[in-house]
Amino acid sequence: MKPTVVDHIGIAVKSIDEALAFWQDSLGIRCTGVEDVAEQKVKTAFLPVGATEVELLEPTSEESPVAKFIEKRGEGIHHLAIRVENLEAALAEMKAKGIRLIDETPRYGAGGAKIAFVHPKSTGGVLLELSERSEE
Ligand code: ZN
Repeated sequence: MKPTVVDHIGIAVKSIDEALAFWQDSLGIRCTGVEDVAEQKVKTAFLPVGATEVELLEPTSEESPVAKFIEKRGEGIHHLAIRVENLEAALAEMKAKGIRLIDETPRYGAGGAKIAFVHPKSTGGVLLELSERSEE
């Protein structure tokens, strides 16, 4: 496995518009786009900082895992995403090491990236996302 960069940090928010008042207006990080990810029932906003992005996640349904997260733990850091060169190979490698995966096969996340989540039980409590970007 070859992790290349912290791709993004996902932050659960109740309202992207309200969160942008801080991240964009007060902190000065420009939002480069907002996208609906229907599969995960979230709206995401991207705010690149160097090679890494802050990803704001607003649930679009009460069924959204992000809605459940906010309900249980409040707004805040939701997951850490690390980019890898070959996601299928990374997942196979982790599986062989006995790491508990939420997604055993990649799915498509925001920006068309291939993503898969690793279970916090295997990471010391961090919801870890592995991502592979096709344009890289
Ligand atoms: Zn993410």
